[in-house]
Amino acid sequence: MDINNKVIVITGAARGLGLAMAEYLADKGAKIALVDMDFESVNHASSMITDSKGYVCNVANESEVEQVFEQIKNDFSRIDGLVNNAGILKDGLLIKYKDGEMNKMSLDQFQSVIDVNLSGVFLCGREAASHMVRSGQGGVIVNISSISRAGNFGQTNYSAAKAGVVAMTTAWAQELAKFDIRTGAIAPGFIETEMTAQMPQKAYDMAAQMSPLKRMGTPQEIAQAVSFIFENDFISGRVIEVDGGTRI
Ligand code: NAP
Repeated sequence: MDINNKVIVITGAARGLGLAMAEYLADKGAKIALVDMDFESVNHASSMITDSKGYVCNVANESEVEQVFEQIKNDFSRIDGLVNNAGILKDGLLIKYKDGEMNKMSLDQFQSVIDVNLSGVFLCGREAASHMVRSGQGGVIVNISSISRAGNFGQTNYSAAKAGVVAMTTAWAQELAKFDIRTGAIAPGFIETEMTAQMPQKAYDMAAQMSPLKRMGTPQEIAQAVSFIFENDFISGRVIEVDGGTRI
């Protein structure tokens, strides 16, 4: 796909990786619909990007997602691409047992991450695909997974969601190819964003050292991989690992 003049929706675009993707794709001539939770921050992000508009939407809420995609279609008259990037972390152990005391991960802690990181991807992917199919012009859907999709200590909820995202990417490639829709996923390693800035300093330093390259990745390196999936017309249904060689 030639990115120039295409309309691309990016969720979680007010900051971090989503904002870097928005800037990168806009530099290649895309018109960007930035979707995020907070009105001020998404509009602030949009004000920095030409040919863009900010939208407030919780990707885990079905009616909000349906409405926002309808609105984006009306505003831009088409939808050519989607990057399912919005995501949250609520790390914790499945069970913690110390001095005879048992603490269990609550269903709410598990479910809230599944709601945003898995159901949110399903809802936005479904709406984007519906609009692309109706337009008859095809499109590209990129889902942001994680190195944690293999299963990671303290991330039962996050790992499960990020593995599911890759499975949906493959299923959609098979189902949607006849409508000229391609899919792809990216599994980033540890990247410098506010999400990883929340990590304790010791864990942050260890994460950087886990890569053979001995550093965190940059948001621009992830944005470049997103752009690659959009531009390469023979990529579909696969996950690209952008992790500096890190294994967890
Ligand atoms: P971030 O800095 O925390 O940004 C995430 C953005 O998503 C925030 O603006 C957040 O809004 C928004 N968001 C959260 N829940 C949402 C919802 N329900 N609906 C709409 N927007 C929502 O995260 P990031 O580091 O850029 O990560 C982006 C994606 O990459 C995530 O899917 C993450 O799992 C994945 N990833 C990141 C790394 C990394 O090292 N950073 C590694 C692997 C994968 P609020 O600020 O209002 O919450």
